[in-house]
Amino acid sequence: MPTRPPLLNIENLTTSFYTNDTVVQAVRGVNLHVNQAEILAIVGESGCGKSVTALSILRLISMPPGRFDSGQIKFNNHDLLSLSEADMQKVRGNDISMIFQEPMTSLNPIFTIGDQIGEAITQHQSATGAEARKQTLELLHKVSIPSPEIRIDQYPHELSGGMKQRVMIAIAIACRPALLIADEPTTALDVTIQDQILSLLSSLKEDSEMSILLITHNLGIVAQFADRVNVMYSGKIVEEATVDSLFENPMHPYTRGLLNSLPKDDSELKLESISGAVPHPAFLPKGCAFHPRCKDAIPRCQQQPPLTNTTKENTHKVACWLYEEGGEDPQ
Ligand code: SF4
Repeated sequence: MPTRPPLLNIENLTTSFYTNDTVVQAVRGVNLHVNQAEILAIVGESGCGKSVTALSILRLISMPPGRFDSGQIKFNNHDLLSLSEADMQKVRGNDISMIFQEPMTSLNPIFTIGDQIGEAITQHQSATGAEARKQTLELLHKVSIPSPEIRIDQYPHELSGGMKQRVMIAIAIACRPALLIADEPTTALDVTIQDQILSLLSSLKEDSEMSILLITHNLGIVAQFADRVNVMYSGKIVEEATVDSLFENPMHPYTRGLLNSLPKDDSELKLESISGAVPHPAFLPKGCAFHPRCKDAIPRCQQQPPLTNTTKENTHKVACWLYEEGGEDPQ
């Protein structure tokens, strides 16, 4: 059990988008925390609110149309939602950095990678050109770019997709952030390179005690690299557990559906998919948002959203009526 308070603690966060005729709640009363030096994964299908949660942490939501309707985002015990924009700018890049899934579009094609990493260094600390170049070479080495002395003067188009993502990681860790948010960091890369990038993030966490918020739709990646996991559906966290607990005892029917759709070693096994589609956030069904797709739904599910329950050991939380008193475990 962690002895230090969480590095990041989100309480009751609701992020909405207001247009002339609709209000879309993309994140609905989310509670989550990231401990010091751990990898927390948020997993869920496209449109479930995981990226909006990440962008909310860094306050990168355009306002309007976006708005924080409720909640707190406490980082090192300071509420990021109450900081001035000037203070928030100091947090971005210094304390919290983010890498995105598309390294190809995140790097500027007209500057060398050395210029771009060097800029991240000089933006946040006073360093001479020579010092920034020395630190840039160290960072390229740290993210395992071969021949850093040559690569430092190359342009993004001269690098492979995997190397570009390593450069993005070098930029993100240039100021030794306490928290790195990685939003689908390997989606655009092939499988072998995916593993290398995630192993790199994992070793950076070990070496520097950095915490990582890993956003992914891939439970296989969660199993391999995360310490804890939050499963998200229609803007809510529906299950939270350590990775071991989630894979040994998935409780929420949605999580079970995601696990059943993972390829198994036995190629004879047929993959199951979850029927139906994620509802549009402007038109959520009443009650539990998952009920139109849930094989285990009971009448109550159509009427009231479920509460979140915690297991006796306090290691596993689930929001599902089946675990209310009197409900039955459908296993
Ligand atoms: Fe299924 Fe009901 Fe649980 Fe929602 S609350 S996941 S509909 S059983």
